[in-house]
Amino acid sequence: MPTESRNQKLKRLKFCRKIRESLFVREERCRDNLRKVRERLREEESAPTDVAEMATRNSIQEMLTQAVDSAEQELSGIRAVRVRFNNRAYGRCENKDCGIEIPLKRLEASPFTRFCVQCQEQAEYLERFPGSNISAMAT
Ligand SMILES: [Zn+2]
Repeated sequence: MPTESRNQKLKRLKFCRKIRESLFVREERCRDNLRKVRERLREEESAPTDVAEMATRNSIQEMLTQAVDSAEQELSGIRAVRVRFNNRAYGRCENKDCGIEIPLKRLEASPFTRFCVQCQEQAEYLERFPGSNISAMAT
């Protein structure tokens, strides 16, 4: 495992602190958004049904349901990252056999990433070809 220079370590620390701080704002915003969309969906569902407007109403409800789903997903993603911060696991590859520090460049590009590039590729490969042998993968 290549060791990071002092300078890189500092940069990494700064970056992690920034992410950790932004999590609260993000979570707050996300929860707020979720509440609004849920409210809107409830209104939409309880409004009297007009046959002429059915199709429009259905597509609006569908859209709102999707918005609720994606907000819930985002929220659980944010919570998962917070748990990882609490466990001091943030920035490390989640693959138990690996566990390397994910390079800062990769974290900067996608702060919520869970795996290093190699493990991510392996996970995607396994998803596409379930049951295949990872060691058969060309390197
Ligand atoms: Zn890894």
